[in-house]
Amino acid sequence: MSLKPSSPEVAIVGGGPAGLIAAEVLGRAGLKVTVYDRMPSVGRKLLMAGRGGLNLTHSEEFERFLARYAEAQPRLRPLIEAFRPEDLRAWCEGLGQETFVGSSGRVFPKAFKASPLLRAWLARLENLGIRFALRHRWHGWDEDGHLVFTGPAGQPVRSKPDATILALGGASWPRLGSDGTWVEFLSGRGIAVSPLRPANMGFTLPWSEVMRSRFEGEPLKRIALTFEGRTVKGEAIVTADGIEGGAVYALSAVLRDAIERSGRAILHLDLRPDLSEDALVKRLGAPRKGQSASTFLRKSAGLSPVGIALLREASPSLPSEPDALARLIKAVPLTLTGTKSLDRAISSAGGVPFAELDDHLMLKRMPGVFVAGEMLDWEAPTGGYLLQATFATGLAAARGVLAVLQIPDDALTLNPSSATRHS
Ligand SMILES: Cc1cc2nc3c(=O)[nH]c(=O)nc-3n(C[C@H](O)[C@H](O)[C@H](O)COP(=O)(O)OP(=O)(O)OC[C@H]3O[C@@H](n4cnc5c(N)ncnc54)[C@H](O)[C@@H]3O)c2cc1C
Repeated sequence: MSLKPSSPEVAIVGGGPAGLIAAEVLGRAGLKVTVYDRMPSVGRKLLMAGRGGLNLTHSEEFERFLARYAEAQPRLRPLIEAFRPEDLRAWCEGLGQETFVGSSGRVFPKAFKASPLLRAWLARLENLGIRFALRHRWHGWDEDGHLVFTGPAGQPVRSKPDATILALGGASWPRLGSDGTWVEFLSGRGIAVSPLRPANMGFTLPWSEVMRSRFEGEPLKRIALTFEGRTVKGEAIVTADGIEGGAVYALSAVLRDAIERSGRAILHLDLRPDLSEDALVKRLGAPRKGQSASTFLRKSAGLSPVGIALLREASPSLPSEPDALARLIKAVPLTLTGTKSLDRAISSAGGVPFAELDDHLMLKRMPGVFVAGEMLDWEAPTGGYLLQATFATGLAAARGVLAVLQIPDDALTLNPSSATRHS
């Protein structure tokens, strides 16, 4: 396909990181770019991501990094090779936000939060002449192929740009803007969309009343979780009706799939991953000297009250034999019965399958329409992998627009010193 209008106009629908990086590339190339977003301001989820520390990307070895994208890896590989973790760090630093590698290998801006980065980025985009149409909710296309929006005063707004990038996000945290309503507009055009499902989320499990009332919000520190032969060390939190936190998120895709298959998943929790079972048996073999079971477990095995409560949840009459007790401490079974809703998930799985797209992320059934970011059907654990793929796909879609519009590639570098409009 080849489109070549004299002064090309591009609509980017969705002002999250995928849409904004696409706007930057296209703005640098001198195109007329309008970013439409239904919210009164852009980048709300990015700001929320920065609340607990904006984990931009990860510093681990590149092949290991790519392996995090599981089945989507073959399609994401060339896109992330074209915009690698070090490129994302350089881009961030070009906006005056130095980055650092945390002890886990995760990469953060020094400011930790997202607001200084977003502020500097929006100033750059303004300088590039990007137009923002906020409070514009997208509703799909009319019969003549115009994009249809509802504007701020409820008025209909129509636009027929030379190319469109859809970057509408997934469906987690809908109050931040991405609510997944786009699914019906694409499905209505005959495009297959894999159902949006929670990813990086908590799970429900039927705690006893004691557990719920006494331990809600209690952190489980320095634990390990094992499911289907995969072990993840980290932290988790007991919630009123289940469990969540970093270590849980890391296993959430396989746990979710197992629950979908068989209605439940048994996760094993190691309360002392730093101690071998033998070492625990030795400690638990020491004389109790009249101590209560809780005091003995606290002193001999170093368990916290919530850890002891978890043992009792699994086995109300605790085993008295040191071997059996040690085995339980190393593998407390937790029967997960459901996933927490998409509303509070960190991200969503599902979306537009790569099979619907060409190598430029253009919809095969809708030439001139590109898709980027979390709308695409890939998922990854937390650790900076979500934003890295979001940026890489936003960049790839923008490059796709340039290729289709036959605009030379020389404007493509995201070199921080060249952030002015290219004409
Ligand atoms: C609490 C939380 C913490 C997170 N922390 C991290 C982290 O530390 N590291 C990391 O890598 N990732 C993190 N993420 C995930 C990351 O923020 C997302 O993957 C990323 O924002 C996806 O970018 P996107 O541009 O594809 O979509 P979004 O950021 O969701 O942007 C989509 C945009 O489209 C707009 N939109 C949607 N529908 C319409 C419509 N119909 N009309 C007009 N506009 C519309 C929305 O308003 C929104 O502005 C976190 C997410 C959450 C919720």
